[in-house]
Amino acid sequence: MGNAIGVHGMVWVGGWSRPEAERAVASTAEAGYDLIELPALDPASFDVDMTARLLEKHGLAAAASLGLDDHTDVSSTDDAVVRAGRRRLADALALVRDLGGDYLGGVVYSKLGRYDRPVSERGRANSIETIAALADEARPSGVTVGVEICNRYETNVLNTVEQALAFIDEADRPNLVAHLDTYHMNIEESSMREPVLAAHRAGRLGYIHVGESHRGRLGTGTIAWREFFAALAEVGYGGTITFESFSSEVVHPSLSSALAIWRDTWRDSMDLARDARGFLRAHLDS
Ligand code: MN
Repeated sequence: MGNAIGVHGMVWVGGWSRPEAERAVASTAEAGYDLIELPALDPASFDVDMTARLLEKHGLAAAASLGLDDHTDVSSTDDAVVRAGRRRLADALALVRDLGGDYLGGVVYSKLGRYDRPVSERGRANSIETIAALADEARPSGVTVGVEICNRYETNVLNTVEQALAFIDEADRPNLVAHLDTYHMNIEESSMREPVLAAHRAGRLGYIHVGESHRGRLGTGTIAWREFFAALAEVGYGGTITFESFSSEVVHPSLSSALAIWRDTWRDSMDLARDARGFLRAHLDS
């Protein structure tokens, strides 16, 4: 399979100043990856020209992901909050487009964080309407929008692939896909195989995050990797696979706390990334 292999920016850096961007992009290329996924929680803060030059210099592609917050939650019933969320998403889309990327994903449909109640009917409708409009805005630039299915402590809207496929069906846009993440699947799904098959059957398997059960080094937790990669092979998945890992060694001002990263699962980013790259190649080639 000729999958593009990506790495999440927070394997390297918690911010995107020039020195951080230089280190993240150069290290991504050095560790043998094809793509870097930018944590675009504050998309308007990125220096697009500087980032584009770095990507070109190192021959890398970029994707972007973000989660919304209390003030930009598009699954809110407060119209002003929903509007603020739509502006944030428009900024993120502009970032991806201006970097020549073709993918924007993550928890773009709700807050990234713990809720204390289920999503309301109107909140869910606001979310679907927002994502449909975002997909429409993205389509002329060839950008695909992905809804990342996350565990119950990080969203109350899409915890399973079944929920995501129903949501996508209602939004009904051609460039809208399900974004699977093994870390979340391991918490919420009944197997590591069935969600892959279900998303594929629906024609919506579009992007994958590989993360270990403790979000640390691949192959040192409890994820059923053989089952997962066998499912990818079974459906002939040819899309991007991005390695995602978090440690208190690299701190992002808002993402680290939203994801509850309280301890160091690793210290050496390059060692971690090279190891993950080898792990992914070994599973994809076997
Ligand atoms: Mn993820």
